[in-house]
Amino acid sequence: MKVHNVEMIGSFVRPEQFPEDGLPEFALAGRSNVGKSSFINRMIGRKAMARISSKPGKTQQLNFYKIEEQLYYVDVPGYGYAKVSKSERAAWGRMIEQYFMGREQLRAVVLIIDIRHNPTNDDCMMYDFLKHYNIPVIVVATKADKIPKGKWDKHKKHVRETLQMDKQDPLIVFSSEKGLGFEEAWAEIESRM
Ligand code: GDP
Repeated sequence: MKVHNVEMIGSFVRPEQFPEDGLPEFALAGRSNVGKSSFINRMIGRKAMARISSKPGKTQQLNFYKIEEQLYYVDVPGYGYAKVSKSERAAWGRMIEQYFMGREQLRAVVLIIDIRHNPTNDDCMMYDFLKHYNIPVIVVATKADKIPKGKWDKHKKHVRETLQMDKQDPLIVFSSEKGLGFEEAWAEIESRM
C-alpha cells in the first residue's frame, strides 16, 4: 500500500474509548526496544510518527493510527522491560487481554522480534497466547540489516523452532533501516483486510 494519509487517532486503554467505525485493525506487539516504532514508521512512510522509544515501557496505552481511511495500526506498548513495576505489568496484561480477546475488528497481530537473537521467553509467551485464542499472527523478524544475508535462513530457522511456529504462519525478514520486507509485510496485511 502506498500511504499518503495517516492520522494518529488517540491513545486509549478501555474498549469504550476505541474507534467505532469498524475498520480492520492490525496490532503491533513486541518487546521494548525491538524496533516496533521503526517498523510502523517505515510501513507508513514517516520518519517519526510513531515515537521511537527513549523510555522503554513507559506508555501503557494503545495508540491508534488510521491509515488511508482503510485500516488501523494499533501500537501495543512493548513488553519485557525490567524496570516496570508489578502493578504496571498487571495493568498492561489486563489491557492487552481485553483488547486481543474482545476486539472483533482485530485481523492479526504483527509480532515483531529481533532476527539477530533467539526469541525471548516473553516473545514465546506472546506467540502462545495469540495461538491459544486463535488470533492470526504475522511474525516480523526485524533488524535484518544487522546480520549478513547469508545468515538469514539459519536465523529464521531458529526463530521458527524457538517460537514453535505453525508452518502456515508467515515469518517476514524485515529491516526498517533499509526498507527490506516492506512489500511482503503490506501484502500479508492487505490480504487480511
Ligand atoms: P521500539 O521500542 O520497539 O519502538 O523500538 P524503536 O523503533 O524505538 O527502535 C529501537 C532502536 O533500534 C532504535 O535505536 C532504532 O533506530 C533501532 N532500529 C529499529 N529498527 C531497526 C532496523 O531495522 N535496523 C537497524 N539497524 N536498527 C533498527
